[in-house]
Amino acid sequence: MSDIRSTPINKVVIAGGGTAGWMAAAALSRLVGRQISVTLVESEEIGTVGVGEATIPTLLTINRLLQIPEPDFIKFTHGTFKLGIRFENWLHEGHDYIHSFGDTGQGCWAGGFQHFWMRGRQEGLAEDYGEYCAELKAAQANRFGILSDHKLNYAYHLDATAYGRYLRDLAQASGVRRVEGKIQEVRLASSDGFIEHLVLEDGQILQGDLFIDCTGFRALLIEQALQTGFDDWTHWLPCNRAWAVQTALTDEPVPYTRAIAHDAGWRWKIPLQHRAGNGLIYCDEFLNEEAARERLLSLVDGDPLMEPRPIRFKTGQRKRYWHKNCLALGLSSGFIEPLESTSIHFIQNGIMWLLLMFPDPVISQASVDEYNQRLRTESERIRDFIVLHYIANERVGDPFWDHCREMPVPDSLQQRIALFEDAGRVFKPQEDVFSENSWVQVMLGQGITPERYHNIADAMSREQLEAFLKQIQNGVSQTVEALPNHGEFVKRLVSMAKI
Ligand SMILES: Cc1cc2nc3c(=O)[nH]c(=O)nc-3n(C[C@H](O)[C@H](O)[C@H](O)COP(=O)(O)OP(=O)(O)OC[C@H]3O[C@@H](n4cnc5c(N)ncnc54)[C@H](O)[C@@H]3O)c2cc1C
Repeated sequence: MSDIRSTPINKVVIAGGGTAGWMAAAALSRLVGRQISVTLVESEEIGTVGVGEATIPTLLTINRLLQIPEPDFIKFTHGTFKLGIRFENWLHEGHDYIHSFGDTGQGCWAGGFQHFWMRGRQEGLAEDYGEYCAELKAAQANRFGILSDHKLNYAYHLDATAYGRYLRDLAQASGVRRVEGKIQEVRLASSDGFIEHLVLEDGQILQGDLFIDCTGFRALLIEQALQTGFDDWTHWLPCNRAWAVQTALTDEPVPYTRAIAHDAGWRWKIPLQHRAGNGLIYCDEFLNEEAARERLLSLVDGDPLMEPRPIRFKTGQRKRYWHKNCLALGLSSGFIEPLESTSIHFIQNGIMWLLLMFPDPVISQASVDEYNQRLRTESERIRDFIVLHYIANERVGDPFWDHCREMPVPDSLQQRIALFEDAGRVFKPQEDVFSENSWVQVMLGQGITPERYHNIADAMSREQLEAFLKQIQNGVSQTVEALPNHGEFVKRLVSMAKI
């Protein structure tokens, strides 16, 4: 059966109203040039997954496209700023490092800053790698601000439920029709297997030309109806369970996410203005559900504000992100795991590619193929980056971590590690959302040490190298000193909101 139909796309139906559904609705209603009707169906009774509160800097792009003022956004979502992630106990107990969003030092055409830094280390001239990054030092100093002469790279922490409401208001104001109800059936055309319409529990029929599956892990359209198939990545990413709980704040919110390893996985702490989001990620072969719940409750700092919620997941991706007249966005399309806060970014990425390929007026095979290829490749790059954190560990004697060290490594990741181990080389493929500096920070943080540096670093005399390193460090210190306290900056921004 063909994947193509010659019917013009005028009616878009979005199934599901979590972050994926409302982000798609807001973007389609505001950014598609020609008139289309957008209907979104969601079920309050089923609800949303209720997590997804840490982001990466790409979120700023969609906020700009949707013309969302930052003060309004921060106020409505109870947001804070995020300069990176602090990984605690990943290499071994007591060790930590920050993967910051900033640039570290300054490289040249032949090689990144890591080469100059490695030579500096060998000659006793260089401090820790992080000392040359303003975002990292600002995170450690609990400072954040927007400077005119040095704009930091940053993202946000946000309240997932409030964010969904914000996007919903935006989408509805732009003409999106919201339908409350439970989808009971997905009716396929007998001629070509395309989705004809959704049947709701109350008998309503939602007919469309293009359907966007945002039904979360249920994947009602893309999998249950269209049986698109799933690439299971459990052998690379074995964690498959989580408990999530919100707690009262005990300290000032810091401008970074905490990812703290434990003997069967890791846990997160995400500080918002009014509370913290916490969760424990684990693999059920190494920790049972009840023990995981108890562990989370014993480790959180503040009083729980709710009963902990269990979440089950399987890591992997849908074999096709776009199949016939259905696209999957969000958890219905697959899930890598939240270690580097990439899921909301990936939703946004799917939306951007949909906008670029929007069927005008009909779906073409070339655009569907391009869409699937792009998303699959980007997802695999993110997967490799996450796997890196697990396989390169020295937590010898913890059965889960021993298992991780012995896991097979994707060929694409093996090649990147080999290049770095050999001479500190890192190259960024186009589809990789993470910068070369992100890879360097995590490889060094996970204990991967290059054997040598690129000989371009020898082009400087010892004195020149010393002055070069000092000058960068001084610049970083001056930038950080010019920044206000993070919490104060958030308060000031909130006071400027117009909502
Ligand atoms: C433990 C965990 C931690 C995470 N942390 C992060 C993070 O820090 N950063 C990040 O970027 N991402 C994170 N994510 C991912 C993030 O939560 C999701 O990408 C994001 O919330 C989008 O979810 P969704 O909209 O696809 O699904 P959901 O939120 O599950 O929404 C599904 C929607 O479909 C509707 N629905 C389902 N079935 C039906 C039906 N039969 N009829 C009608 N409606 C239906 C539901 O009512 C709901 O509206 C995390 C995920 C997990 C599991």
